[in-house]
Amino acid sequence: MMREEILHYLGTSNPEEISALYTSADRVRAQHVGDAIHARALLNISNYCRRNCLYCGLRGQNRRLMRYRMGKDDILRTVDAAASAGYKTVLMQSGEDGWYSRAMIAETVRIIANHHDIDIALSLGERPDDDYRCWFDAGATRYLLKHETSDPALYRALHPGSSLDERIRILRLLKSIGYETGSGVMVGLPGQSLESIADDILLFRHLDIDMIGCGPYIYNPDAGLMRPGDHIWTQKMKMDTVLKITALNRIVTRDAMIPATTATEISSPGSGRACALGAGANVVMFDITPLPWKEHYIIYPREDFTNGIGDYPRLAEELTGLTGRPISTGYGRRNKP
Ligand code: SAH
Repeated sequence: MMREEILHYLGTSNPEEISALYTSADRVRAQHVGDAIHARALLNISNYCRRNCLYCGLRGQNRRLMRYRMGKDDILRTVDAAASAGYKTVLMQSGEDGWYSRAMIAETVRIIANHHDIDIALSLGERPDDDYRCWFDAGATRYLLKHETSDPALYRALHPGSSLDERIRILRLLKSIGYETGSGVMVGLPGQSLESIADDILLFRHLDIDMIGCGPYIYNPDAGLMRPGDHIWTQKMKMDTVLKITALNRIVTRDAMIPATTATEISSPGSGRACALGAGANVVMFDITPLPWKEHYIIYPREDFTNGIGDYPRLAEELTGLTGRPISTGYGRRNKP
């Protein structure tokens, strides 16, 4: 699909065209990655962050957030429980928290890899290049680092002290190390154009990104970016565009792993996740972060009363009920099933 056609779909408000787009994405999904939905256990290990991304509640300057970090034993205990519950992937995510040394993360990854039949994904932000190499050697096989927006000026405005070029350089490095590499963007940022979203989709393909997570930008009063009324994106435009970008990513990449993101469900409670799964997505994430920590990982305001470990069977059953599709018992890797 060419840029012009992508832009056309992003811009259309013709309901027949839109539903045809979702249907063809759903068909491509069935053909290239099958019906199974892959569940990931998401463990938010720390909400400390040295960055100040304007949209994010974890930004270092947000004094209203209660900070926490999980130690190695806390992490290992939680991953043990997730593996016993049947998860085949655990994703450890955090703000950019320098407290975790290269060696400490490597040791944690090594212990998990040696004790459990579970794939290890990391999303710990930008780190020295050798950290990524070391953690791959220790047994982590996936790394997520969203490029957030492919508009360089908007990127610079939202991320003090950091650049889109650097983000993309790291994505290439992660691929070259051998990671299944994840990226993604937010949809509905103030000042974000449909043209730049078309470029986002082409960039995923150009970099051969393996996992693509896109969700709506959600206003966080403690983060500092403009209020919801301050820009042109309405709630409906945001959600429509999230579903369109999900469908277009599926059509353009064919076999990428595409989550129905948490932000999508939070913006459209009860239907967001199912809609994304019907428009090309094939992955979901359940938060397994133990209380009380879970309540303090506030990237954006949200309420989640489920327990990603204890409620996993019920959540899986509900998803199957909603979509008619089975929950995978495999690893859900892009390259080697
Ligand atoms: N610190 C890590 C990952 C943690 S943040 C990193 O930099 O890669 C996880 C993701 O949450 C971000 O990549 C961003 O896409 C999303 N996010 C942050 N603030 C958001 C907001 N206000 N609305 C929607 N998504 C947001």
